[in-house]
Amino acid sequence: MCATPTKDIDRTAAQAEKLRQAGAGLVRVAVDTDRDAEALKEIRRQTKANLVVDLQENYRLASVIAPCVDKIRYNPGHLHHVEKEKTMADKVRWIVDIAKDYGLALRIGVNCGSIAPEFLKQYPGDSSLAIVESAMFHVDLVEKSGFERFVVSLKDSDPLKVLDVNRRFAKSRPDIPLHLGVTEAGMPPEGIAKTRMAFEPLLSEGIGDTIRVSLTLPNDRKHEEVTAGFEIIKDVAEGRLTQKSVQSAGLNIISCPSCSRVENERFVELAQKIKAMTAYAKDRSITIAVMGCRVNGPGETDDADLGVWCGPQTVHLKRKGAELGVFSYEEILPRLKAELDRLIKS
Ligand code: SF4
Repeated sequence: MCATPTKDIDRTAAQAEKLRQAGAGLVRVAVDTDRDAEALKEIRRQTKANLVVDLQENYRLASVIAPCVDKIRYNPGHLHHVEKEKTMADKVRWIVDIAKDYGLALRIGVNCGSIAPEFLKQYPGDSSLAIVESAMFHVDLVEKSGFERFVVSLKDSDPLKVLDVNRRFAKSRPDIPLHLGVTEAGMPPEGIAKTRMAFEPLLSEGIGDTIRVSLTLPNDRKHEEVTAGFEIIKDVAEGRLTQKSVQSAGLNIISCPSCSRVENERFVELAQKIKAMTAYAKDRSITIAVMGCRVNGPGETDDADLGVWCGPQTVHLKRKGAELGVFSYEEILPRLKAELDRLIKS
C-alpha cells in the first residue's frame, strides 16, 4: 500500500512503481477527498501497477475513481456509518453496479477494529464471530446483486484471531477467495514474525489467495513489505515454518503500516523511538498501540493498554481507551514512559 499523500502525485506514482517492481501484484491507494480522486487519474497514467482503492466512509467517490482502478475495497464497518437513511443492501448494490460497469474486482474488507455495531450487539463478547458473520452478510449482499469477482478479508492485529476468523470463514465458504492480512503488525522483525504466525498455518492449510504484509516502515523502505510476503510464501511452499510465538507473553507493540492518511511523517520515527524506549518493559504483558492518523487512530487504540495516535502537530495518549491528553511530538515519549511505569507499578 502506498503511504505517501495521494495528492502528492509524483511521490505516490513512484512508490506504486517501486512496489510493483518489488513484485506487488496489486497496489492499494487511499482516496479520501475529491483532490485525491483527481490525483489518482494522473497516478494511473504514471504507473503500470494494478491499483486498488481503499474507500472508507467516502464510498461515493467510487464512481469517480472507477475508471482509474482495477479493484475497489470497501469496509462494511465504515459503510454502516454513512447515508444511514439507506439500507446496507442499497449501498452495496450501488458499489457492485459500479464494479460491473467498469469491470472491476471488489474486496469486502472486514476489520476487527471497525465492525458494524449491529454485529457486535448480536454477538456480545465474541468479536471473532461478529467479524465472520459480518463478512457472511456482505457476501450474501454481493452475491444477491449478481456479482462474483470479489474477495473477502478478515483482519485483526492479533495473529491468532486472524487465524481463527479465516479458518471459520473458509470452513463455511471454501469457494470464496480470501485476502490475508495481519493489521498493524508493527515494525520488523517482530511485525514479520506476527504475520508469519497467521500466514504460515493458513497458507499451509490452503487458506488464502492473496496476501498483504503490513509493516511500519519509512516510505523509502515500504517495498520490504512485498519482499517479506514473498519470503513467507517461499518458506511455506518449501515447508520451512518458523511460527514464532511473539504474542504469547511480553510487551506487544502494535503499530500501523502508515498510509496516505498519515499527516505527519514523523509517525514512523516516533514508532521506532517508542519501540526503543519501551525495551526495558519487554517481559511485561502489556500492549501498546501506535497509530498514524486521526481517521483510524482513535478507534484502533481503544483496546490497547496504552495507545498513541498521531495528528498533524500533536500526539494523543490513551490508557485503556480513555484519553489522557494531547502532547507535542517532543513531549510524548516521557509522558508515555511515565504512564508505562505507572501501569507496571499497578
Ligand atoms: S491508522 Fe491511519 S495512517 Fe495508519 S494505516 Fe490506518 S488509516 Fe493509515
